Amino acid sequence: MHTDGRQSDPTHSALKSAGAPASQGARPLIVVVGGGFGGLEAAKALGGTRADVVVIDRQNHHCFQPLLYQVATASLSPADVAWPIRGILGRWPNISVFMAEVTGIDLKRRCVRAGPIDVAYDQLVLATGATHSYFGHDDWAPFAPGLKRIEDATDIRRRLLLAFERAEIEDSPEARERLMTIVIVGGGPTGVEMAGAVHELVRVAMPLDFRRIDPRKARIVLVEAGNRLLPALPETLSAYTAATLERMGVEVRTGCTVMACDAMGVETNGGRIESATLVWAAGVVASPAACWLGVEGDRAGRVKVGPDLSVAGHPEIFVVGDTAAVVQDGNPVPGVAAAAKQMGHYVGAVIKARIAGKPAPGPFHYRHQGDLATIGRKAAVAKIGKLELTGFIGWLFWSVIHIYFLIGARNRFVVATTWLGDYLTFQRNARLITLDRSASAVRSEGTARAGAEPSGGAGLPGSEPVAEAPDGERLRSSV
Ligand SMILES: Cc1cc2nc3c(=O)[nH]c(=O)nc-3n(C[C@H](O)[C@H](O)[C@H](O)COP(=O)(O)OP(=O)(O)OC[C@H]3O[C@@H](n4cnc5c(N)ncnc54)[C@H](O)[C@@H]3O)c2cc1C
Repeated sequence: MHTDGRQSDPTHSALKSAGAPASQGARPLIVVVGGGFGGLEAAKALGGTRADVVVIDRQNHHCFQPLLYQVATASLSPADVAWPIRGILGRWPNISVFMAEVTGIDLKRRCVRAGPIDVAYDQLVLATGATHSYFGHDDWAPFAPGLKRIEDATDIRRRLLLAFERAEIEDSPEARERLMTIVIVGGGPTGVEMAGAVHELVRVAMPLDFRRIDPRKARIVLVEAGNRLLPALPETLSAYTAATLERMGVEVRTGCTVMACDAMGVETNGGRIESATLVWAAGVVASPAACWLGVEGDRAGRVKVGPDLSVAGHPEIFVVGDTAAVVQDGNPVPGVAAAAKQMGHYVGAVIKARIAGKPAPGPFHYRHQGDLATIGRKAAVAKIGKLELTGFIGWLFWSVIHIYFLIGARNRFVVATTWLGDYLTFQRNARLITLDRSASAVRSEGTARAGAEPSGGAGLPGSEPVAEAPDGERLRSSV
């Protein structure tokens, strides 16, 4: 089937041939599941080749996760860090995009189950990423949301901003203190970046905006079970990070293990912290791809792959990015965007070679490009090879790298000018509370309250678990 000058209609052939060998002598059919860093690179590498490519993602957009924390802290808007997958891949007529949630794979019939449809493949790339892990305590998720998707970031932003709205109309000093306490669990890059950005939001951007509370008195606690922050970086940079955060007024608690999270705070081995806003930035678990394939995953649920990133016994199936367990020189390849991109690009090259009947490239080799984390408006840490950067230089380097890796000139321009504006004006313009039901709950609680603890509106900080989530998203357990 040919449409609008396209070379073919992969949608048609993929659906039609489910249950039969996908290509049946025609163009090979490549299915890529996941439009994140790994999946997009694989698809791009196959753009314009003599194959039909179908990219399936449960979201219609690619999310630039490294800047999600800036959406959660009202510096950037969702559209600054996410782009429609169709828009990114639209220029290649041989690539189609399906928005559907994959729930399984029929290895015998060679098709992917995606909602109501089965999509046939000749070669399959699984790039479904990872999500946060609560180490067997998924019941903590409603109280301590993690940061993985745009919805997570806007949820955290809403909780954070609502807590201060509630504090402004609160009379009880204890309740006010709890509302103005933010606990971030996990001292890796996401936790450190969140702590620095929350500090800027509440202590730098908000002080002039409230009359009854002083946001500068907000308490920000960063909790880490290990003995130092940023364990992937050298100890000197960890120490610099902790000292910088502490100088900013963030309480850094290392060696502090979370025992339980609830609507009113967090229990740790060092005592309880009353808090209305908890953010989970500890631990990840891979997507259930191992389950779909019927293979045993590693400790984090990742699929063990061979040197060409294919699955043992299934040379037609590849796994890339956070869902793949790749060991190189005895060390696991880290779950970072650069690794996912390199894997996606490599698998695209392997498939391309197969299609062209050429020899496949040699085994996958990951090139580590460095580690970075920003701490605040003037500080970051970076390690690139032997070079270690800190302070303002580190921050400048971090900013340039992140702007460079954003997709599209428009986004680079918007993010760069937003950061410059924030830097000069100390403002955070994306301070929007965007869920109507919660906003009205604040209003009614404010008018009704009489010194009692909040009864809990829809998803309010300190309220009952967020069972009202419109799509059940916040109740999603670790996959
Ligand atoms: C908050 C945060 C900050 C980070 N900061 C950095 C950083 O500064 N630097 C860095 O290098 N890395 C960073 N990372 C890690 C980096 O984002 C990941 O390593 C990278 O996204 C992995 O790419 P991926 O393609 O494997 O998965 P992802 O980019 O997560 O993409 C997976 C895609 O699969 C889709 N999907 C999942 N399940 C299904 C399904 N069942 N059906 C259909 N589609 C599905 C998802 O919608 C998503 O689009 C960060 C991660 C997070 C969460």
